[in-house]
Amino acid sequence: MNKLILKAGREKSLKRRHPWVFSGAVSKVEGQPQPGETIEVRASDGALLARAAYSPQSQIRARVWTWGNEEVDAGFFARRIGDAARVRAALGIDSATDSMRLVHGESDGLPGIIADRYGDTAVVQFLSTGAERWRHAVADALCSVPGIERVWERSDADVRALEGLEPRSGLMRGSAQNTQRTLHEHGLKFRVEIEHGHKTGFYLDQRDNRLLLRNLTRGKDVLDCFSYTGGCANNALHGGAASVVALDSSAPALELARVNAVLNGLAEAEFIEADVFQALRKMRDQGRKFDVIVLDPPKFAPTAAHAEKASRAYKDINLLAFKMLRPGGCLMTFSCSGGVSGELFQKIVAGAALDAGVDARVERWLHAAPDHPVALNFPESAYLKGLLCRVAG
Ligand code: SAH
Repeated sequence: MNKLILKAGREKSLKRRHPWVFSGAVSKVEGQPQPGETIEVRASDGALLARAAYSPQSQIRARVWTWGNEEVDAGFFARRIGDAARVRAALGIDSATDSMRLVHGESDGLPGIIADRYGDTAVVQFLSTGAERWRHAVADALCSVPGIERVWERSDADVRALEGLEPRSGLMRGSAQNTQRTLHEHGLKFRVEIEHGHKTGFYLDQRDNRLLLRNLTRGKDVLDCFSYTGGCANNALHGGAASVVALDSSAPALELARVNAVLNGLAEAEFIEADVFQALRKMRDQGRKFDVIVLDPPKFAPTAAHAEKASRAYKDINLLAFKMLRPGGCLMTFSCSGGVSGELFQKIVAGAALDAGVDARVERWLHAAPDHPVALNFPESAYLKGLLCRVAG
């Protein structure tokens, strides 16, 4: 097997089982491994540390498949995916939903591989050269998960370009009459567009936070910013909100949000196609007030290099939201930026409250649902952080 030899002293993070080898840690590569090929990672003294997938074009030069002598073959992927599925079954969330994240990349020992389940359909993303090389073994393994009859690929995320990979999507296994699925989540139904929706189609990580929101909204005026297909807006209506305004810049997402209201027999929210930054300013100038505001923007900072610009954007929308909350109102605010830590996000929100002139407290720290686990040695995968803040009454 070809080998990647680390510079002296650069084996420390691997010994703590962090699964990435950065280009700056590499002393030399022996042989001529192809993109995605499995290589041995060795310390400068020659000690074998791991077997990893080689990514010649990426700053993340290798991603660890296994810390042992385990063979990386189709059986390896079958075992890892079987383990991931058993962990999900043990969560006991199948009474709450028929849809969940089945494979969460590094945290399931499968770097570069994401798979979400919508009922009988797995939607998979291959985001690195190593994942790409094993895509058929992964698709076969997903078909062995009880209840999965179809595998759809959505490898069209931007990060593939960093690995020199072209976007690809389409059916991999099974047959598909149409590309819409209806998922069930805490008693509500949501239509998911698996061919054209964002990522794999739905933001499953927000499941528990949407339920929490539902329980805060009886009789309240609610503003759902970055609404996508109305996950939060429709939960607020189901919870008995007096009124719901939902903002998103995507017309197709809002169209599906309306379909989702009808599917659940809910009154329709006021869905507005708008840029949230502009719409919030307009509403503030009009003197609009709400009891509950949700801010669930897309990631503003993919890496720490974008943190400063992202901080200004988070501060801006959080400040405007605090200004529009009635006394005693709640702000549910999120960041899914890998480049913004939980601590930094809390500071940004605190600064926004201060500048808005409101006294606010955190009632709850919010995280992704448990089917999105975080390997202790890989905190990077805890990308979603949120705060439920209440302003003084
Ligand atoms: N809360 C949603 C998920 C939000 S995803 C749920 O529970 O399902 C983020 C959304 O922000 C996407 O739908 C995207 O279309 C929208 N978006 C991104 N930038 C925007 C902007 N500047 N103004 C309005 N919407 C925006």
